[in-house]
Amino acid sequence: MKKLFHIGEYFQEKYSQPLQRIGIDLALGCPHRSNGGFGDGCIFCTEDGARARHLTRVGLNLVEQVACGIEYVKKRYGENVGLIAYFQSFTSTNAPVSRLRELYSLVLSQADFKVVIVSTRPDALPDEVLDYLEELNEKYELFVELGIQSACDRTLQEINRGHDFAAVKNACARLKKRNLKVAGHFILGLPGEDFNDWMYTADQAAALQLDAVKIHQLMVLKNTVLAQRCNQNSNYVKPLNEYDYAAALKSFLQRLPENTLLMRLMGDAPESELISPRWWMKKGQFLSFFKEYFYSDNTQNGNFVLTHTADGTPTLYHPRYRQHFHSLAGAGSEAEKKFAEPSALPERLQKSASEKRPLRLLDIGFGLGGNSFAALAHSEKVSGCALEITALEFDLRTLQAALNLYNPNSKEFNILQELINNGFCRCGNSEIKLLLDDARNTIRKLPEKSFDLLWLDAFSSDVNPELWSQHFFAECFRVMRNDGALLTYSSAPTVRGGLFKAGFTVGETPSFGRKRSGSIAFINMPQEGFVPLSEKEKHIIFDSTAGVPYSDCSLNAAPEKILSQHKKLVERLRRRGVPKWYREKTVKN
Ligand code: SF4
Repeated sequence: MKKLFHIGEYFQEKYSQPLQRIGIDLALGCPHRSNGGFGDGCIFCTEDGARARHLTRVGLNLVEQVACGIEYVKKRYGENVGLIAYFQSFTSTNAPVSRLRELYSLVLSQADFKVVIVSTRPDALPDEVLDYLEELNEKYELFVELGIQSACDRTLQEINRGHDFAAVKNACARLKKRNLKVAGHFILGLPGEDFNDWMYTADQAAALQLDAVKIHQLMVLKNTVLAQRCNQNSNYVKPLNEYDYAAALKSFLQRLPENTLLMRLMGDAPESELISPRWWMKKGQFLSFFKEYFYSDNTQNGNFVLTHTADGTPTLYHPRYRQHFHSLAGAGSEAEKKFAEPSALPERLQKSASEKRPLRLLDIGFGLGGNSFAALAHSEKVSGCALEITALEFDLRTLQAALNLYNPNSKEFNILQELINNGFCRCGNSEIKLLLDDARNTIRKLPEKSFDLLWLDAFSSDVNPELWSQHFFAECFRVMRNDGALLTYSSAPTVRGGLFKAGFTVGETPSFGRKRSGSIAFINMPQEGFVPLSEKEKHIIFDSTAGVPYSDCSLNAAPEKILSQHKKLVERLRRRGVPKWYREKTVKN
């Protein structure tokens, strides 16, 4: 599939008006669930079996459900809206055909429905039901929506679907033989599955020649077997964030035949019921992001994904680290609030100018360049000062991707271009030197006591522990002047523990875009306004395993090794009785 073809567009073209679904709950339960069709079933299924909530919570009968649904869609989408009868909840074919005939006829006699969608399981379609659906198909455009979820039998077993993929193939073949349209429902992110499994499912889905698909991310909802399993084992599923899911969805769709109708591309659930994944994008945001992403050639960009932050400035998402380069509270403001302001940068620039020496800044994790650009902007406001920035970056593709964020005539664009081409850029009295390598190698080659400021802006310590170990901090300590300061956005106890261990005095910086503060570290001369850590914070760092720093004594260990060694050390300490977290004792009277 090269072009997204939403079912709404198809209906609009065919009926010359938009169509909207009226969700109907026939209260037939599901043959796969215990307790008469309403007990345990698929592990992700909620108690209400995807019931149309706005109708059934108040116990409406079928006639009332239709009336209520029509009132809702007309109010929301206008009078000129056509109607789809959507038999949605549980298994809408779970009854003898005579009963189905009775219920469906009652619903369909209530309004001028153009389309009927029947949601069911592959193993709940006996021949007599197909006969009836064939009959309905003569009067309405009919889609049979089949729960498929995955083509991998081991997954179907794991999620307790109660049928295998052969049952899906069989149901599709029987439906197709009668010229009934089939929509397949798939979930990406099911337990034990990875990208290869999703692509296998996509290939199998393509072979089924489905007329439509409905795809969404796995959602862990409260009061489900899935939620219990995740509670018992935090690794049971790996929740997909927006970008993981978008990448998987794009590849999935690309394997489907052109003109497969798209019924749904993401799932959403009420905040109160959703455990994970908690996306920051709302439904509309995700769908417009996905549309842009689907048509973009993201291979040009090293797979970095452009995102707009709350202050309107753009940033990129890094798929390897599964993080954005900046806080979503504002890429533009972040450099100022997290680094320049708490460093007292203007005052330091003035002081160095009066001492007739350059101010030296080590920008660790240059990334998209935002921090260095903010520092340069400050240097332009202080007459007579010179700023020398040494920028450490691992991946040149980051700078190449950053070019997309700036106007080609802008100063930032030109600086990036110079750094990409020459590794150096002069800007008036100031300059930036780019050192491309693992920062652990580069920092060891830098002279000692040479930097006034170190701005540490690596990805977070749980994904990029190489740059947060006590041994890396020891190198930071070595290259920092005695009156210098190290700034970072992180307030993780393990990071602060590492800074202490390396010999720094550690304090707080104001928070920005999140509740927790950042950190500032000095060798022996805290600057004016220094906010020391609270006693409680110090106890957390020194008296619980939360403050155990990462260790990387050779400064070349793989991140996985650093994390696993850290985990083992924490487990050892826990066995010796060191608590996971420090809690203040409450004094009882
Ligand atoms: S088949 Fe559908 S209704 Fe039945 S348990 Fe599975 S998800 Fe729920």
